[in-house]
Amino acid sequence: MQFTEDHAMFRKTVRDVVEREINPHVDEWEAAGVFPAHELFATLGALGLLGLEYDEAYGGQGADHSYTVILGEELGRIHCGGVPMAIAVQTDMATPSLHRFGTEELKQRYLVPAIRGEAVAAIAVTEPDAGSDVAALRTRAVRDGDEWVVNGTKLYITNGTQADWLCLLARTSDEGGYHGMSQIVVPTDAPGFRVSRSLKKMGMWSSDTAELSFEDVRVPLANTIGEPGRGFQQQMAQFQNERMIANYLAVGSMEVALERTVAYLRERVVFGAPLAESQHIQFALAELFAELDVVRQYNYACAEAYLRGEDTTRFATIAKLVAPRLARRVADTCLQFHGGIGYMDETWASRYFRDSRLWSIGGGADEVMLRTIARMEGIGA
Ligand SMILES: Cc1cc2nc3c(=O)[nH]c(=O)nc-3n(C[C@H](O)[C@H](O)[C@H](O)COP(=O)(O)OP(=O)(O)OC[C@H]3O[C@@H](n4cnc5c(N)ncnc54)[C@H](O)[C@@H]3O)c2cc1C
Repeated sequence: MQFTEDHAMFRKTVRDVVEREINPHVDEWEAAGVFPAHELFATLGALGLLGLEYDEAYGGQGADHSYTVILGEELGRIHCGGVPMAIAVQTDMATPSLHRFGTEELKQRYLVPAIRGEAVAAIAVTEPDAGSDVAALRTRAVRDGDEWVVNGTKLYITNGTQADWLCLLARTSDEGGYHGMSQIVVPTDAPGFRVSRSLKKMGMWSSDTAELSFEDVRVPLANTIGEPGRGFQQQMAQFQNERMIANYLAVGSMEVALERTVAYLRERVVFGAPLAESQHIQFALAELFAELDVVRQYNYACAEAYLRGEDTTRFATIAKLVAPRLARRVADTCLQFHGGIGYMDETWASRYFRDSRLWSIGGGADEVMLRTIARMEGIGA
């Protein structure tokens, strides 16, 4: 991947914003179990960070995907996992389909405020009985005149308590399986919509996660994103963006975790010498640095393929398997080498251990990645 002066300046801009506007508040937001999405997104929107690849006509930057790589890596350096995940939902998980397939009117109404940071978006796919198997989802949108009438439940929805609109995946016909689903923009002020539960989690505390209920929620047919009945296919494409940004975030988070651990081990004296002088510790960390480099370069290969307009399913899937698994090992090693202080709630290492665990489950579990890779490799019938 060729990074220019312009990329370096952009990286510095994002790093400065993170240091100035986000990191000083992370402890407070983690303790509160939520961060002020509208406030922070307005700041990020004003800096043009919420629509990097989107058309300038909608307030986007019209930049290419290489800038998304940098954004992801730098957001990954935030001192918690919850806030970067919530920002990534806004930029790369809930909005790509709308930009790709939405009508002009729908984009003006929902995408423009999301890019400005005036509206918070969420992606509503998972249900109590449909997570890994998206095709099992049961939320229905039934046509009534020029409206959809939506009934169902969505679970584990990031930004769910604060969202102004949802990119909802629902069944819109009886075809079953991968057919007959549509993506629909649902404004959360529509009567019949409610946040039925705010969920407490093992990690990612600063990010709100909700169960959402829909009881006869009426939404104009015009809120359909793209072609009715093609929702599953459109969501699969949107998942590629979700997985790519998750992989960039993972690299940034591992980079900062290793840096902070090395800094700590240079100071921490045990048996009369800094722990960083121990060859055992040097080798363990060197191995993780080496593997991180491989994952980073693999991400860059993925990004380059995306820039060439190629299908990145293989790259994004493999990276989504490997990066979170490496992050789990990095988190475990960093915590171990911190000793007792690493286990304390007050240390970033314990937070990273809890937060990083999510990525082997969210955005498609490891086994879902393995299933896709097995299929691509032609293993089995
Ligand atoms: C903090 C958090 C935030 C989230 N945010 C969102 C969001 O914003 N929007 C949204 O729509 N969803 C969101 N999710 C949901 C997430 O994408 C799902 O949890 C995930 O896809 C797994 O689905 P599930 O929980 O139903 O697990 P299940 O589908 O019940 O799977 C359980 C486990 O079974 C294993 N497994 C699955 N399939 C196979 C297989 N074929 N072979 C072998 N083993 C298998 C995996 O280990 C998996 O973890 C979030 C989840 C969490 C925890």
